[in-house]
Amino acid sequence: MSSPAITLIAGGVGGAKAAEGLAYSDYREGLKIIGNIGDDQRFHGLWVSPDIDTLTYTLADAIDREQGWGLKGDSNRVLSQLQQLGCDTWMHLGDLDFATHIYRSVQRQAGVRASDIARAVARGYGVDIPILLPTDDKVPTQLDTELGWLDFQNYFVAERCIPKIKQVCYHNAHLAKPTPEALEAIANAEIIVIAPSNPLLSIGAILAIPRIRSALENCTAPVLAISPLIGGQAVKGPAAKMMQEMDLRADSLGIAQYYEGLIDLLIIDEQDQHLKPAIEKLGTAVICTPTLMTERPSRVEVMSHIVERACDAFKLTYKNNRACA
Ligand code: GDP
Ligand code: CA
Repeated sequence: MSSPAITLIAGGVGGAKAAEGLAYSDYREGLKIIGNIGDDQRFHGLWVSPDIDTLTYTLADAIDREQGWGLKGDSNRVLSQLQQLGCDTWMHLGDLDFATHIYRSVQRQAGVRASDIARAVARGYGVDIPILLPTDDKVPTQLDTELGWLDFQNYFVAERCIPKIKQVCYHNAHLAKPTPEALEAIANAEIIVIAPSNPLLSIGAILAIPRIRSALENCTAPVLAISPLIGGQAVKGPAAKMMQEMDLRADSLGIAQYYEGLIDLLIIDEQDQHLKPAIEKLGTAVICTPTLMTERPSRVEVMSHIVERACDAFKLTYKNNRACA
């Protein structure tokens, strides 16, 4: 069956749930994913790209499903030994996972494009859905907190997101050159879906690249976002806390305000129905539907339903003129 060209803009765990939902649905064929590299950081001399790896491992069905990141069945012998040697080991990196980071680092040193490395890792894991980088440049997210400026993983993992934040900086993102693959995936999409990822960290880091943001603003495809907040709470992680600290509303209306001017439609959880009129006042269409995704079947169901409803709302027909399923 034919399916529309869907470009998913995704972070880590929330992004990977949406990616898996689409990848195992009838919408797999036209799916492309643009992932976040703002979380990338060096550990033990190796280049680690956690959100891209989470997408790859999830689509490869190799992810540790309990954690939502890392490889299933992995062990920590290398990390234990590094600890013995006096290294900081708060960043959890499994033994098999280290292979990805070694490969990425060696390839980078050899001058290979970051996008090509990501593609090679995906291929190594048998993933054929394109996982695209927004840029091949380095755009590390940093946070100004009550403890001072912290690199992303120092804030997220070492400090467990506890310090209050004052500012999020997408370092050098304003200078970053978008990849042709990401621009092409935006220009040729028939529908763009912003995953229910952390807006300030995961999606914000992608939107901070000016030509990615303008491509999304000017694309012909309708753009929809799925709210990561349900009942004013994040399903997991610091999104609600961070939004409060940044003086943003920590609910789906706050998400609509954050994406104002960029999205045509916001998918909110059925629990948040009462926010629909206020979001519509911003000029953003709203669909209320279950958005909580647990295991794979639920991810497929939630994402298929969202795409169907969105196609309906936008009266979208595929390139071959067939109406959306
Ligand atoms: P990270 O990079 O691993 O932090 O993951 P993301 O940024 O991609 O996603 C984190 C966000 O996903 C959090 O704000 C969660 O609230 C949201 N999230 C996780 N699971 C779900 C879900 O099942 N439904 C919805 N609507 N949001 C979710
Ligand atoms: Ca992340």
